[in-house]
Amino acid sequence: MLITGPPGSGKGTQAQRIAERLDITAISTGDMFRTHVMDETPLGVETKRYMDNGDFVPDSVTNAMVRDRLQHQDTSNGFLLDGYPRTTCQVDELDDILAANAHNLDVVLQLAADDEEIVRRLLGRARDEGRSDDNERVIRHRLELYREQTEAILALYDRRGLLVQVDGCGDIDQVTDSAMSGIETAKVRQGT
Ligand code: ADP
Repeated sequence: MLITGPPGSGKGTQAQRIAERLDITAISTGDMFRTHVMDETPLGVETKRYMDNGDFVPDSVTNAMVRDRLQHQDTSNGFLLDGYPRTTCQVDELDDILAANAHNLDVVLQLAADDEEIVRRLLGRARDEGRSDDNERVIRHRLELYREQTEAILALYDRRGLLVQVDGCGDIDQVTDSAMSGIETAKVRQGT
């Protein structure tokens, strides 16, 4: 399955909880990039400036990293991708990877949150965790990219009958419960 939502919608937190309940592997492209940046790998050196500016890392780089990650054994029981795909090019790549591995998507979960709530939450996180891309200018830019590019690809998943929308603004447990019931409904709908 996929989980998507604007920056600050809590998708990282929910991804961990949902993956645990479903006993599948959570894979966050944002976390993978941050680990590379921290470890100063060649990939980290290349991607840092994009992340600091709130820009997408180029598709070719992101696609190669995800393709490689999805070959690992821990994904054979199912996986939850957090933060990928974000562009139409990434959707095509994922379709291709899934077809090659004989996997299907069951659900695309979208967490909704409004812009001002997002900015408020992320400025709070900036104070608490010091993430280098959590300042107001970069937050607004990440939000703009999400609204312009990532939301556009959700229409496509909706046409495939995969999209489930959940309000990300309640308390953490409440959001997890709504997400789990949305996932169950979607799976029943598809007979999986
Ligand atoms: P958020 O959704 O809060 O912006 P993430 O932790 O998911 O944060 O991602 C952080 C950064 O990592 C993004 O701003 C972008 O630079 C990079 N990134 C993560 N996933 C992708 C992706 N699928 N395509 C391009 N860049 C990505």
